[in-house]
Amino acid sequence: MAAVTAAAVSLSSFPAAAKAAAASPPSPSSCVTYPRRSAARAVRVQVSTTETAEAGPAPVKTEKISKKQDEGVVTNKYKPKEPYVGRCLLNTRITGDKAPGETWHMVFSTEGEIPYREGQSIGVIADGVDKNGKPHKLRLYSIASSALGDFGDSKTVSLCVKRLVYTNDQGEIVKGVCSNYLCDLKPGAEVKITGPVGKEMLMPKDPNATVIMVRRKRNAC
Ligand SMILES: Cc1cc2nc3c(=O)[nH]c(=O)nc-3n(C[C@H](O)[C@H](O)[C@H](O)COP(=O)(O)OP(=O)(O)OC[C@H]3O[C@@H](n4cnc5c(N)ncnc54)[C@H](O)[C@@H]3O)c2cc1C
Repeated sequence: MAAVTAAAVSLSSFPAAAKAAAASPPSPSSCVTYPRRSAARAVRVQVSTTETAEAGPAPVKTEKISKKQDEGVVTNKYKPKEPYVGRCLLNTRITGDKAPGETWHMVFSTEGEIPYREGQSIGVIADGVDKNGKPHKLRLYSIASSALGDFGDSKTVSLCVKRLVYTNDQGEIVKGVCSNYLCDLKPGAEVKITGPVGKEMLMPKDPNATVIMVRRKRNAC
C-alpha cells in the first residue's frame, strides 16, 4: 500500500521541528502546533495522508475553519448620509523635511462609537463640495491604531495619511481632495467619519500566528 504524505508548513520558523514532524508517521489528518519561541513567531504544521488509487479508504475531508477573527465584527455603522462627527485630537507630520512626500499621523475622537478592529478602514468625507457642487465622496483610510486606540481607552481612531500632490498633463499642480483636507486638519476640528468597513484584512484567530504584510506602492498604505 503506497501512501503519499504531504506536509504544509504555514511558515517555517522551526525547520528542525517541521522536518521531524514530516519524517515521523502521521495520523491520517493531524495538526501540530509547536511551542512558540517568541510572541511574534509560531509554526503550525498541517500533515495529511492521502492513499493512492489501489489503496482503500478515501481521503479524510477536514472541516474548513475560518482563520479570521470575524465574529461580531461591526461594519458600516455610520454611512455617508449620517456620518459620525468626531474631532481631531492631534495631527503630526511623521516624515522628515527631506523625505519625498508628506505623511501625517492623526487621532480622532470616537467616544467608543466606532467599534473597529485591527485591519478595518474608515471613510472620511472632506468638507466642501466637488466641481459639480455636490458634497465630496468619501475616501477610505486604513485604521492605523489598535482597537484600543492610541490612548488605550477605545475612544479614538488613528490614521496615517499621505498627502497627494501631483502635476497633471497640463503642468498644473493638483492636490488630492481628502488627503490634503486630512493632512491640514488642526486639533479641535470636526471630521465626518463613516464605517468601520472591511473584513478582508482582519487578524488571524491565533494570536501567535505569523503575519506577513506585503505592500503595493500607493499612497501611505
Ligand atoms: C481600502 C483603502 C484604504 C486606504 N488607506 C489609505 C491610508 O491608510 N492612507 C492613505 O494615505 N491613503 C489610503 N487610501 C487611499 C485614499 O482612499 C485616497 O485615495 C487618497 O488619500 C487620495 O485621495 P484624495 O482625495 O487626496 O485624492 P483625489 O482628489 O481623490 O485624487 C485622486 C485622483 O487623482 C489622480 N491622480 C493621483 N495621482 C496622480 C498622478 N500622479 N498623476 C495623475 N493623476 C493622478 C487619480 O485620478 C486619482 O484617482 C486607501 C484606499 C483604500 C481603497
